[in-house]
Amino acid sequence: MQMIKAAVCHAYGEPLVIEQIQLAAPGMGEVEVTLDAVSICHSDISYWEGKFGGSLPAVYGHEAAGRITAVGAGVPGFAMGDDVVVTLIRACGSCPNCGSGKPTICATPVDPTAGPLKTADGGKLSQAMCCGAFAEKVVVDQSQIVKIPADMSKDCAALISCGVITGVGAVVNAAQVRAGQDVVVIGAGGVGLNAIQGARIAGARRIVAVDMMADKLEIAKEFGATDGVLASDPKPWRAAIKAMGGKADAVIVTVGAIPAYDSAPRYLAMGGKIVMVGMPAAGTTAQYEPIIMSNSGQQIVGSKMGDVVIKRDIPWMVDLYQQGRLKLDELISGRWTLEQVNEAIADTKTGAAKRNVIVF
Ligand SMILES: [Zn+2]
Ligand SMILES: [Zn+2]
Repeated sequence: MQMIKAAVCHAYGEPLVIEQIQLAAPGMGEVEVTLDAVSICHSDISYWEGKFGGSLPAVYGHEAAGRITAVGAGVPGFAMGDDVVVTLIRACGSCPNCGSGKPTICATPVDPTAGPLKTADGGKLSQAMCCGAFAEKVVVDQSQIVKIPADMSKDCAALISCGVITGVGAVVNAAQVRAGQDVVVIGAGGVGLNAIQGARIAGARRIVAVDMMADKLEIAKEFGATDGVLASDPKPWRAAIKAMGGKADAVIVTVGAIPAYDSAPRYLAMGGKIVMVGMPAAGTTAQYEPIIMSNSGQQIVGSKMGDVVIKRDIPWMVDLYQQGRLKLDELISGRWTLEQVNEAIADTKTGAAKRNVIVF
């Protein structure tokens, strides 16, 4: 047991408190990672606002990178000093979903309050999303980490572990876009920009970004969008269809706003696929016309974390980054200290930021 500094949520929506907490040594199958960087994701903010539930007090943060500083028993393939990314994708490896090659939907529940974290006085402390990475160190399951090159900057590496794999994976794994197809990406935020560059990497012909903000459409073009359409247009699909010269083979919805889900089929070609990636508030519902889907042979699928297999997909994304074919540096809009976490969250909430990263 050791004491580390962490940003703790004691009440939903109240500023996180920087305090000392207890971190247990890694157990069977676990490693301790001393963090160099953790980025702020909208899921962290939704948890902090209480939209996703979960017990308090809690430590959020789940897009992290660092170096292994302790290794528990039964961890083949990792050693002290390895540079790694830390993801929230904890997979038991033995449930039917893991056995089917779908670790992002592992069916084995994890009790976050029975994890490695405790408050300074030994009270319950939730390790949110199996990470608790708004802290100097994490102890996580070996299924959650992937080795990265020692010379890769950790702030860029941290981004890969959630927003990048979710966006790129939605296009490559979930939609299975192939060269020459047309893709619409609704929302040009952290995940949307990565869906756009996923479509570029997959060889899409036209990539249409749809967003409420004109400046985000300009950024989207830097990431590979061929066309941009303002979502404030009452019928934005018209301009998108005009740009593509037809309808889309894949529509990737990366936002939480329900109108985006309601309108997604408007962009879609016969035989096309809508991939739902965004996380609208629990309880909200969308509407669609079933006859169009059935008569047109269309699909609507949900994709969690880009349907990635992290030990397969993260190494090739890292390699594309090193070749200059996957943009990561350009995703970072600000760097902050752990003490500035509340300011960094406030900046992310404005919606203008790409990704804010806390560096240690
Ligand atoms: Zn995330
Ligand atoms: Zn499992």
